[in-house]
Amino acid sequence: MQIDGFRFAEHGEKQQGVLPLVSFTRLRDVLRDTEGDVQYCLTGTRESQGRLALRLQLDTALQLTCQRCLEPMRLPVHTDVMLILARTEAEVEAGGDDPESPDRVLASSAMSVDGLIEDELLLLVPFAPRHAAQCVLPDRVHHAMPSEDTTGSLGKLRHLLTSTDSRKPN
Ligand SMILES: [Zn+2]
Repeated sequence: MQIDGFRFAEHGEKQQGVLPLVSFTRLRDVLRDTEGDVQYCLTGTRESQGRLALRLQLDTALQLTCQRCLEPMRLPVHTDVMLILARTEAEVEAGGDDPESPDRVLASSAMSVDGLIEDELLLLVPFAPRHAAQCVLPDRVHHAMPSEDTTGSLGKLRHLLTSTDSRKPN
């Protein structure tokens, strides 16, 4: 799926659909489970300063692995980003340092829509995902082990046996 970036933006074109998460080869590596889809809507537009841009809206939920408890962690994604079309790589880099400046993307006459979506999803995946508040451990079966009775009769008996043993000549 490819678009001509500037043309798409200039004409205010729109493309939307649903893609299976499993189709994203780079994203797949960071997912615990590739089940599910991503709903996307890509719109050609101009940003507030009149520059040609692509607005990308994504809705999905990614299954990650919490790096603290190693249990599954669901990351819901509802994102809406504006990507300003840049003509050169240098132009893309120029806006890179300022966190306030909008994201830029290198435009071409054959931009991969899947690639844009995958790049955006990868940006949203934390480097070391962790459950937000507290790790909720799954119910594990704890076999109730009665604490050893060291002070009761059994303990005393054991003590006696040990004492007896120690008196044995070597
Ligand atoms: Zn966790």
